[in-house]
Amino acid sequence: MIQRLSLVVLLLSGGLSAVSALGAEVHNVRVWIAPDHARLVFDLSAAAQHKLFTLKKPDRIVLDLANTKLVSDLQGVDLASSPIALMRSGSRNGGKDLRIVLELKEHVKPKSFALKPNDQYGDRLVVDLYRDMAEAPPKTAVASVNDPSARRDIIIAVDAGHGGEDPGAIGPGRVKEKTVVLGIARELKALLAKERGFQPKLTRDGDYYISLRSRTQRARKMNADMFVSIHADGFRDHRARGASVWVLSPRGASSEMGRWLAQKENSADLIGGVGSVSLEDKDDVLAKVLLDMSMTASRSDSRDIANSIHRNMSKFAKMHKKQVEQAGFVVLKSPDIPSILVETGFITNHDEAAKLKSKAYQRKMAQAIFSGIKAHFTAKPPAQTWLAWQKEGGTQKTTPFSYKVVRGDTLSVIASRNGVSLAALRKANGLRSADHIMIGQVLKIPAS
Ligand SMILES: [Zn+2]
Repeated sequence: MIQRLSLVVLLLSGGLSAVSALGAEVHNVRVWIAPDHARLVFDLSAAAQHKLFTLKKPDRIVLDLANTKLVSDLQGVDLASSPIALMRSGSRNGGKDLRIVLELKEHVKPKSFALKPNDQYGDRLVVDLYRDMAEAPPKTAVASVNDPSARRDIIIAVDAGHGGEDPGAIGPGRVKEKTVVLGIARELKALLAKERGFQPKLTRDGDYYISLRSRTQRARKMNADMFVSIHADGFRDHRARGASVWVLSPRGASSEMGRWLAQKENSADLIGGVGSVSLEDKDDVLAKVLLDMSMTASRSDSRDIANSIHRNMSKFAKMHKKQVEQAGFVVLKSPDIPSILVETGFITNHDEAAKLKSKAYQRKMAQAIFSGIKAHFTAKPPAQTWLAWQKEGGTQKTTPFSYKVVRGDTLSVIASRNGVSLAALRKANGLRSADHIMIGQVLKIPAS
C-alpha cells in the first residue's frame, strides 16, 4: 500500500559530518530499474546536505542539494522504464544550491539517503522510487491429502547475490560477482523449471540491488520451500581460491575465514538503505526468538542439501574446505526456510575468474546445485507436494484427475504445472478461448 505524500519532507539523518565547505558537484547520474522500484544514484564530488519532498499536480519530486553544482548533463540519463517522465535542474539561492526536479509518470513513494565512498564509487546520494505493487496472493489454503490440488510444486528461491550499485567482488578484467552469479542463478532456474515437481523463483532477475533482509522476505512471500544464495568470493591475495558451501552457524562464524566472509557479506546491508533501519532492528529480535523455535529442523535440512551440493561440486571444482562451512550470513537467517549459500569460487583468482565467466562452467555449477536440491527433496519431499505424492506411488501418467482452482491460478499455469498442453486442458473442460476460471472451480486434468 502506498500513502499519498503531500509535501512530506524527508530529512537526511547522519553522514553529514564530512560536508565540504567548498561545496559539492554532481558529476554523474545512474539509474537502476528493479521490478518494484527505481534507484537513482547521484555521484558527488563530496558529501552534500539534501532535502527531498513531493509536489502534486503534476506529481513531482523535488531534491534540493545545499552548496552543490551540477556539472553533468541530465538529458543523457536513460529514464526508459523508470517512473520518471522528465528530470530537470535549476539553481537556487543565487546559484549556491542545486534543485533537481523529477516529473513523474506514475505515483511512487520516494526514499533518499547518502552513501559513503567505497572501492568503486565516491560520495553518492541515492533516491529510491517505490512503485505501488499489488499485494502477493495469500498463502494457498491447506488441502486434504487426497485432493489433487494438494500436489503442489516445491518452490525454490534462487538468490543471485549483490546487484545494481553493489557489484560484489571484482576480478581481473573488471569481471563482477553480481554478473557471474546472476548467470549461474538463471541456469539453475532453467534446470529447476524443466524438472517436474519444482518451481524456481529468482529473488532478482536483473541488475539492481536488493537488501539482504528483503531477499529473505521475498523467499517468504514466495512461500519458498528452500532458499539458495549464489555468490563468488573475493580476496586481496589473488592466490586465494576454492568454492565453498555454507549453512547458518548458531554462533556466527565458525572459523577465521567464516568470520571474515560473514563480515563481508553482511556489510552489503549498508547499501540497502537507511530509512528502515529501526524496523529492521525490531525484526532482528523477533527473528531471533523465531530462530530458536524452529531453526533445528530447517538447519538439518539445510545441512543435508549443502552436503549433497558440496559433494557434487567437489567432483569438478577445487573446494575451499573438505566439508560444508558455517557462518552467520543474514540471508541464511530465515528460521523456517532451509537456506544455504554457495560461494562458487574466487573471482579474484585468475583461473577461477576465467571459469566463472564462461557459460559452460556456470551451467556446470548450476547443475551441481540442482542435483543436490533434487536429491534432497526426492528423498524428503515436503507434504502435499507432487514429489511426495509420487513417492507414495502416484500414477498420474495414465489416470486423469481433477484440480480445484485457487487464488492466483491461471489456466496456463495449471496446464504447465500438470504437464499438459493448454489446448488439451481447455478441451477436457470445454473452455473457450476466453478462459474464465473461478476460485473453487474443479477442472479435469487430462492424462499428459
Ligand atoms: Zn557475494
